[in-house]
Amino acid sequence: MMDLQAILDGIHAELLPRLGEGKVADYIPELAKVDPRQFGLAIATVDGQVHRVGDAEAPFSIQSISKVFMLTLALGKVGEQLWTRVGREPSGSAFNSIVQLEHESGIPRNPFINAGAIAISDVVLSGHAPREAIGELLRFVRYLADDDAVTIDEKVARSETQTGFRNFALANFMRSYGNLDHPVEHVLGVYFHQCALSMNCIQLAKAGLYLAARGSNPATGHSVVSPKRARRINALMLTCGHYDGSGDFAYHVGLPGKSGVGGGIMAVAPGIASIAAWSPGLNKVGNSQLGAVALEMLAARTGWSVFGD
Ligand code: GLU
Repeated sequence: MMDLQAILDGIHAELLPRLGEGKVADYIPELAKVDPRQFGLAIATVDGQVHRVGDAEAPFSIQSISKVFMLTLALGKVGEQLWTRVGREPSGSAFNSIVQLEHESGIPRNPFINAGAIAISDVVLSGHAPREAIGELLRFVRYLADDDAVTIDEKVARSETQTGFRNFALANFMRSYGNLDHPVEHVLGVYFHQCALSMNCIQLAKAGLYLAARGSNPATGHSVVSPKRARRINALMLTCGHYDGSGDFAYHVGLPGKSGVGGGIMAVAPGIASIAAWSPGLNKVGNSQLGAVALEMLAARTGWSVFGD
């Protein structure tokens, strides 16, 4: 039996001198205030163990990691039809790039770049007022994490609404191509609130368990998606979960993962565990610098990889 707690403790000890590396996201004023010298790591295994180290109980803004949960909701709503609105290919460009959208007539490359996630918010919004769609997501994430303490940080949502000029541009551009059914303000209201979900590493690791365990949360018995859908969401996380750094993350870590500009990364070792790492300093492509290093160390020390032993 592997001693996972000892592995986490070892990674934490090694990374302590490096805390503060990277640069916090400052284009969202509320995120610019976060202390960069924080680091948390948590693992929830499919056989019911939870291990943690560092600031694993400190809530942070999960930002784009929410795109995985929204994708799951949207697929539940409209099924495979979703893929007429958004593609499934890595973008090879920045998370908030607008360039490809024009070439591809308003159909975003994948659900994890901002444009794709905004189209998905539009899908989840259908039949609802924005407030209801946000409530649906919050209930869903609480259900996944089996924890009603998960909240939305209104300050972060407001901060992004006030400064999200690029996201407004992306949404307006898609609306002009007919790829948004609802008013831009409503769609972005949902999008900014999903990004402002506030969770800690333990909650996030637990919320990802369904992706590690064939679509059901083994801790609660909750069935979330079919095994096939869980596999496919993992495939998208592997190929598109780290924006323009997705290839590098697959190369170094070898696990499906999704990052957010709050410095979080949720990763999945299929059949074994769901993992959440958090450290606010980001690398050049907007992914957590130490979070990625920690996951690389974890993958190397456990042998977890989707590419073989
Ligand atoms: N809310 C962020 C934005 O739209 C999400 C980006 C991210 O986490 O990668 O800019």
